[in-house]
Amino acid sequence: MTNASAPLFDRVAIIGIGLIGSSLARAVKEYGLARSVVGSDRSEAVCAKALELGFLDAATPDLGEVVAAADLVVLCVPVGACAEVAERMAPHLRAGAIVSDVGSVKMAVLRDVSPHLPEGVHIVPGHPVAGTEHSGPEAGFATLFQGRWCILTPPPGAPEAVVEKVAELWRRCGSKLEIMEPAHHDRVLAITSHLPHLIAYTIVGTASDLEEDTKSEVIKFSAGGFRDFTRIAASDPIMWRDVFLNNREAVLEILQRFTEDLTALQRAIRWGEGDTLQETFTKTRAIRRGIIDAKQA
Ligand code: NAP
Repeated sequence: MTNASAPLFDRVAIIGIGLIGSSLARAVKEYGLARSVVGSDRSEAVCAKALELGFLDAATPDLGEVVAAADLVVLCVPVGACAEVAERMAPHLRAGAIVSDVGSVKMAVLRDVSPHLPEGVHIVPGHPVAGTEHSGPEAGFATLFQGRWCILTPPPGAPEAVVEKVAELWRRCGSKLEIMEPAHHDRVLAITSHLPHLIAYTIVGTASDLEEDTKSEVIKFSAGGFRDFTRIAASDPIMWRDVFLNNREAVLEILQRFTEDLTALQRAIRWGEGDTLQETFTKTRAIRRGIIDAKQA
């Protein structure tokens, strides 16, 4: 049992001080989860901003300096940047350090980061299923993870005590924990998160291609459902580019099923099959109720 008020780590290093990195740093600091929390961002200006905002004890673009004394290093960069960051920081990691991440795809992170890690450094990939459509160090807040799921996907053979330490960090950030196989994670998230984002990007893209007079009406009457899609479609383009490039198989598989279901609805509309439409919409309403009951609304 860990003492619930004692720091879990000596020094936590956050790599990538954006929305998720800065939220985690704020939570680590506010809830006293480490004796110190340091950060690295490739941008000097972002490091300076983080220090000014006061949620890091030190920040520099020098990756090696930041990870050298850390017993936990958390990669908070887009999934596609993990390999390069891991390669650059690896020679500086201290023996016994734990490396984790927050990426929205898990197979690719494990594949790209693990080969760079030296003997004696453990990897416990993670994904806090929490976020907003905003980016950067000013967008973060300590309570982002409260009541939200965090999924860990440790590789086979990861020591239980190491996984538990990372799990406890997220619990103390207010998250609910789930351990999953990385491939299962990627399939589940393809339907719950990646496909909805793709649909939102498509709908908003279609609207933006409309002729000017229709487009202004779309904005005027956006409360009729479209507004919610515009919020999702405002999410970070680099992050989402990397999600689709790195979860290709699972997304394509779910997209194929979605396309078939959409075609079935299209057919029902064409042939006036009201029963089919009503049946589908009744089934989906029950899913919304389930989400509300699970307090994930
Ligand atoms: P963000 O606010 O845009 O921050 C991204 C950070 O990564 C920035 O510090 C950025 O540096 C850095 N970065 C970008 N490209 C890089 C590269 N090639 N090399 C090194 N650093 C690079 O994004 P975020 O929302 O925090 O997302 C970070 C991670 O969290 C992603 O892997 C994403 O999948 C995951 N995630 C996001 C959400 C969400 O809703 N946003 C939810 C759960 C998980 P600069 O300051 O120089 O741009």
